[in-house]
Amino acid sequence: MKKCPCCNNKSYYKIFDFGLHPWCGDFRDLSDRNPVKKYPLKIVMCKSCKLVRLTHYIPKKIMFSKTTYLSGSSDELLQHFKNLSLKIKSKFKLTKNSNILDIGSNDGSFLKYFKSSKILGVESAKNLCDISNNNGVKTINGYFNFSLAKKIKNKFDVIHGSGVMFHLEEINSAFKGIKLLLKENGILVIEFLYLKTIIDKFYFDQIYHEHLFYYNIETLNTFLKKYDLEIFDFELSPIHGGQVVAYISHKGGKKINRRLQNALFKEKKYKVNTPGYFKKFCSTIDKSKNTAVKKLDQYRDQNKIIVGLGAPAKGNTLMNYYNLNNQHIDLLIEKNPLRINKLSPGSNIPIMMESDLRIKPDIFLVLIWNLKNDIKKKIRKKFKGSKFLFPKNFLKYK
Ligand SMILES: [Zn+2]
Repeated sequence: MKKCPCCNNKSYYKIFDFGLHPWCGDFRDLSDRNPVKKYPLKIVMCKSCKLVRLTHYIPKKIMFSKTTYLSGSSDELLQHFKNLSLKIKSKFKLTKNSNILDIGSNDGSFLKYFKSSKILGVESAKNLCDISNNNGVKTINGYFNFSLAKKIKNKFDVIHGSGVMFHLEEINSAFKGIKLLLKENGILVIEFLYLKTIIDKFYFDQIYHEHLFYYNIETLNTFLKKYDLEIFDFELSPIHGGQVVAYISHKGGKKINRRLQNALFKEKKYKVNTPGYFKKFCSTIDKSKNTAVKKLDQYRDQNKIIVGLGAPAKGNTLMNYYNLNNQHIDLLIEKNPLRINKLSPGSNIPIMMESDLRIKPDIFLVLIWNLKNDIKKKIRKKFKGSKFLFPKNFLKYK
């Protein structure tokens, strides 16, 4: 990625280089021992507009045409979508005639809460599209971009995208499409991982190839300005470890609220959009590797049974950066059926269904650390006596 897709500037600050990593969705069959293809995983900050991005991307056809990520497999995410849908319906007074579009609609988990209005999903993964359409959520199979948008005849009161503003190749075309389809008084709701939270809480495993961009509120706003769009309100949500839900309108369409002004002021005050803000984060990633591997080696020498909790995309950044494998972690357990009886990409650890686990692990390495409620309410109760090790505690960060 030579040029910044926001401002076309070629110069950047180097932030962190994780080395070569496989695509986080490259789950293999248990018998498949062919080496996985690896790609550079490196983040940089544009010197001009301060957008943080990866330097290298994997073609979208590899990453997004068949995916194993299912929104509906997380109770916590479903609850979040339900709450957000209630908020949107009342805040923007939606009726049965309102049109809602979800970009990157996955298995239809968000749109199903809007069935009393007119809904449409766009999803690039054919397998997810089928699930969605079978569940009565009308979904077009394709990559959302300007040419796809032109084929859609309706205009929309609400356009929503959760975790989808990462498709590098088409981000400008996608926003051109959004601009075209958003009604004059329409609302665009974008959910994205908050870069400031990733840094503040040391969630370095949120950096992986499917996340091509890492936004703060100011840098997203800078990008939106290109399309005469602007954020007028936002809220922080604990989902995925720390997300921003940004409410966006056509420029001048809504009054910018105080909460947003304060957040922008804070980003400026603490110099969040400067390379200096990453200094401690980067040196801690470096140091955490030795500490983590040493600790896991110790457990292995004591013959402890170590099970990874979840096989999420972010777990692969951690396991591959730490060079972990079957010697450190016996197996991973998952709820998502699309990842069962597979090997984790690069680290080659077998994955089994959570409900099929019959042994009692000594230690759980919690890779799905973002699903705090699921862990607290269900898993800790089910596996009383097991130790739960959270990756961010390998090193004291703050
Ligand atoms: Zn830029």
